[in-house]
Amino acid sequence: AAHSAGSTAPQPYDPVLSKQQFRSREIERALGRALDRGEFQIWYQPQHRVADGKLIGSEALVRWSNASLGRVAPNEFIAIAESTGFILELGRFVLEQSVEDALAMPPDLGIAVNVSGVQLIAGDVLGDVKRVLETTGLPASRLCLELTESVLLDGSGGLIETMQDVQFLGVSWALDDFGTGYSSMGYLSQLPLEKIKLDKAFTMSLGVDRASLPILSAMSDLCRGLGIKLLCEGVETEDHLAHLQAHGCDEAQGYLFGRPMCLTDFLSYASSQIQESAIARADLR
Ligand code: C2E
Ligand code: MG
Ligand code: MG
Ligand code: MG
Repeated sequence: AAHSAGSTAPQPYDPVLSKQQFRSREIERALGRALDRGEFQIWYQPQHRVADGKLIGSEALVRWSNASLGRVAPNEFIAIAESTGFILELGRFVLEQSVEDALAMPPDLGIAVNVSGVQLIAGDVLGDVKRVLETTGLPASRLCLELTESVLLDGSGGLIETMQDVQFLGVSWALDDFGTGYSSMGYLSQLPLEKIKLDKAFTMSLGVDRASLPILSAMSDLCRGLGIKLLCEGVETEDHLAHLQAHGCDEAQGYLFGRPMCLTDFLSYASSQIQESAIARADLR
């Protein structure tokens, strides 16, 4: 390790590191067969408009359950899939499956799909999106692609052009996990973004960190000025939501509304929302 300065002795065997490496290799091996074995599922997490609480769509989140590894979190296996290139296949599967599932949802709901920077750089996102829209007939305006901001700074050659080509199809882009350390204000106006998603770490700081509310209100002013919608992730409490309402944040996603759920559960969630708003309308009469 770097802190053992002055010592030239051989590094001692590090059981922690090798345990991690062993697990990565196991995951890598299991990932290769997981698609054929049908081990992936897509779950859906509701996204709501802040102003009136209306359900506006959902984010597709991949779930993996393997016989020997159990459930593995995307935060663990996505990075491995990116390093092996398997993300190209997995990303296509997620896109196809979630767009197909969106056809079963109410037609006014959007569907947001995470796209890895590796797909943008090494894959054919434009071709994949074109094909899936053609074969399913889903209106392009219902599809949003989420890209995490970390990919934008490294090797952005051709990346903005691809984003623009996809946008030209009528599909929109959201910048995911904003505020996690790569933020560059000037960059925002160059990207074809419909939406910025503030990371849940920021939402957790609302009302706790003194700077959080001024930052929120500056962010929502900035986004309004650029014509970009602002969504907060990780909205867990009524307090969080009240802050978003007070500072003009457009959309919210988090456990307060619902956790990621299987398609069947999401469909019942969506129909309960429709009933609720019908009751609200009846109350107004
Ligand atoms: P993300 O795109 O930022 O997704 C939001 C994550 O926050 C999800 O974790 C979700 O379950 C979690 N979350 C949602 N609401 C709350 C909340 O109120 N409180 C807390 N504490 N957490 C909340 P998940 O599903 O484990 O996904 C983690 C990350 O893995 C995602 O972050 C995304 O970057 C990546 N990922 C997931 N599915 C895919 C996929 O299909 N393709 C790619 N490329 N990446 C994916
Ligand atoms: Mg996302
Ligand atoms: Mg996010
Ligand atoms: Mg995240």
